[in-house]
Amino acid sequence: RAKEQGRGAYAFFRQEMNEAATQRLEMVNALHRALAENAFTLAYQPVARVADQRFSSVEALLRWQHGGQAISPAEFIPVAEETGLVVPIGEWVMAEACQQARRWRDAGHPLRIAVNVSGLQIYRTDIVDLLMRCTRDAGIGTDVITIELTESILMQDSNTVREIIADLKHIGSSVAIDDFGTGYSSLSYLSRFKADKLKIDRSFIAKVETSEEDRAIVRMVADISRVLGMRCVAEGVENALQFDFVARCGCDLVQGFHISPPRRASEVLPLLAHPPD
Ligand code: C2E
Ligand code: MG
Ligand code: MG
Ligand code: MG
Repeated sequence: RAKEQGRGAYAFFRQEMNEAATQRLEMVNALHRALAENAFTLAYQPVARVADQRFSSVEALLRWQHGGQAISPAEFIPVAEETGLVVPIGEWVMAEACQQARRWRDAGHPLRIAVNVSGLQIYRTDIVDLLMRCTRDAGIGTDVITIELTESILMQDSNTVREIIADLKHIGSSVAIDDFGTGYSSLSYLSRFKADKLKIDRSFIAKVETSEEDRAIVRMVADISRVLGMRCVAEGVENALQFDFVARCGCDLVQGFHISPPRRASEVLPLLAHPPD
């Protein structure tokens, strides 16, 4: 009886595994097609200065409409990483962000753009070379692009990443450490990377109204940024209370629905003319 049940559970487990594998394979195929058919787009989320709430830059966020449905990059980027597809997708993102920067500059609104880069991209490709090629092709300066690396990337091979950060800064680009606070890197370790910005993960911001611990973490990260000479960005600021709190902590920049959700490129310039109050 027990044996039978065990076997039943196993068969069920196998079926689930097969379904997951099939779904993954379908996604991989669909990602290949999306790349070939130029089906990706970029959304741009404004980042505002705390001091005057004016926009200082935007972050490029990958968007994919598949089968009439928007699929989150949080869902497909991990799959694209496993299959190496994140490399050509990342090349497309960089090229497109640079072209958009050129269009905004030509429209009289030069805007800096932050581009997210995944771990595999950093280790498998020459990201510095990619950035130089794409900015040159678009006819913009390398200083227009900021590279966002997650804290977890720093921990994999710190010497390689340190050199890449140094090279990016050498060519005039800047570097932000994304999702900070989720990756368990030690603080002394952080000082070895000469990044320009530290972005506090939005999971902490989401809890500042209810959790003393999260308030302490946000305060601490803002302090560390200051001491290490980095600008501090609060991610995922959704309301005025959260905005006031991160402002009091000394965060320099804010990003989140309270300022603006990610928008289509065509919606960004009208926003510049009417900044939030
Ligand atoms: P991220 O770089 O930390 O980007 C911020 C994410 O938070 C975005 O999700 C954004 O839409 C969301 N967000 C912004 N403000 C708020 C807010 O006030 N509340 C809440 N709840 N969410 C907010 P999105 O666009 O789904 O992207 C998820 C992640 O996917 C990104 O996190 C980034 O790690 C990755 N990603 C996005 N685009 C790319 C890309 O071009 N390349 C790579 N490698 N990764 C990307
Ligand atoms: Mg980011
Ligand atoms: Mg982030
Ligand atoms: Mg995040």
